[in-house]
Amino acid sequence: MNIINPATEEVIATVQVDSPTTLEEKYRRLLAAQQIWAQLPLGERINTLIRFAALLEAESASLAEILTAETGKPLQQAKNEIKGAISRINWLTTNAERYLSDELMQENGTVRECISYEPLGVIGNISAWNYPYLVGVNVFVPALIAGNGVLYKPSEYATLTGLEIDRLLKKAGVPDHVFQLAIGDGPVGKMMLDMELAGYFFTGSYHTGKYIYEQVSQKMVPCQLELGGKDPLYIANDISNIKAVAEATADGAFYNNGQSCCSVERIYVHQDIYDEYLDYFVQQVKAWTVGNPLDDDVYFGPLTRKLQINILEAQVNDALAKGAKLLCGGKAIDGKGFYFEPTILVDVTHDMLIMKEESFGPIIGIMSVRSDEEALSLMQDTDYGLTAGIYTDSEARAVSLLKKIDAGSAYWNCCDRVSAAVPWSGRKHSGIGSTLSHQGLRAFTKPKAWHLVGSK
Ligand code: NAD
Repeated sequence: MNIINPATEEVIATVQVDSPTTLEEKYRRLLAAQQIWAQLPLGERINTLIRFAALLEAESASLAEILTAETGKPLQQAKNEIKGAISRINWLTTNAERYLSDELMQENGTVRECISYEPLGVIGNISAWNYPYLVGVNVFVPALIAGNGVLYKPSEYATLTGLEIDRLLKKAGVPDHVFQLAIGDGPVGKMMLDMELAGYFFTGSYHTGKYIYEQVSQKMVPCQLELGGKDPLYIANDISNIKAVAEATADGAFYNNGQSCCSVERIYVHQDIYDEYLDYFVQQVKAWTVGNPLDDDVYFGPLTRKLQINILEAQVNDALAKGAKLLCGGKAIDGKGFYFEPTILVDVTHDMLIMKEESFGPIIGIMSVRSDEEALSLMQDTDYGLTAGIYTDSEARAVSLLKKIDAGSAYWNCCDRVSAAVPWSGRKHSGIGSTLSHQGLRAFTKPKAWHLVGSK
């Protein structure tokens, strides 16, 4: 499989993909190694992952360069991602003892009722490319801490990063066969569905996730899905600093070229402040530089996948045909690399793809609304349910609206953010199950209920 640099379109590496035979071999080794790994004291496994975080930190400069070379992510954003992954590992390793240790729930005379958290076994992690460190860490770190073996399939667009993760986990002390890579694209992911893994943890698109869920349902094992979104924002008319909010929310929409699962994908602005907000928003987007992702001042690199250009152009054309207006951008940029102009569309409606389908690129639709009720009804008009955000000077106003929205994360005066302390979960077409937080630590375990009768 060729690895292509999306900024230059050059082949930067060629890797050997797995076959059913090599995967089977890896699986047999994983099965044996996992049994031994699970017997180690929890503290020892935690310490191994702490060493992994230290190695990420020590090698972050070269890891960021590799990430930029294969995904086109601007170097500064690649460094931020690695920093974010380290902070997530810190939270997970600091809190693992608390949530994975045996618990005495009730004691009555000689009767004790306890819970222990046993690993699932050898799990499969089929992953995405947009934040390979972050979405990877969400799964393989708590899975390893809990005593599982992991067959990790990096996305075909983040394979070199997957190889680095494998190298550093081994260097940190994860025994050789406890963590294995499945290298390749969709068909290799499909091969994993034919294996008897003890759980499937997927990050990627709704369509692939739905397919995986259907296949795995036959197996009666856990299947968690972290999928896409069409995340809405509402800017209410009482915000005191319109400029600051316009700038922060433009970043929420366009960071990582809009290729974040929790990117702001549609914005509703109260009509009282609409014009002013829009002016600042457009100014901010135009101020950001498009270019070589290795350059320090570049905010927009290329898209990671060439095919996404067709989806973005289809959304723009559909919107324009139905009466939308372009404030900037709208097409691919000529020349080498998968570049797309930062694009802002107004006069949009929910009859347009841009307001209904995930864009996953540097493109946003902005609508004026007359009231909180209208904003709420538009925000809820979606098949997805990953995040939703409201900017207002009143916490009560935000909370009362956010309670009515069926999304896994609710943001007041912020957007496009994830924290390891709280669950990361999607609803409806955005997924099933949670990673991060205590829930994300326990997601890789099966609880055993102990009913112990007798004196100790
Ligand atoms: P994708 O669905 O195209 O691919 C994801 C993974 O699935 C890849 O490793 C791919 O090789 C594999 N795959 C493809 N077809 C398969 C099949 N038939 N069987 C098994 N595996 C298969 O998604 P992507 O382009 O890598 O990622 C982008 C999507 O991921 C976006 O929709 C984004 O919103 C979503 N995402 C969600 C989160 C979240 O936390 N909710 C995080 C990151 C990305």
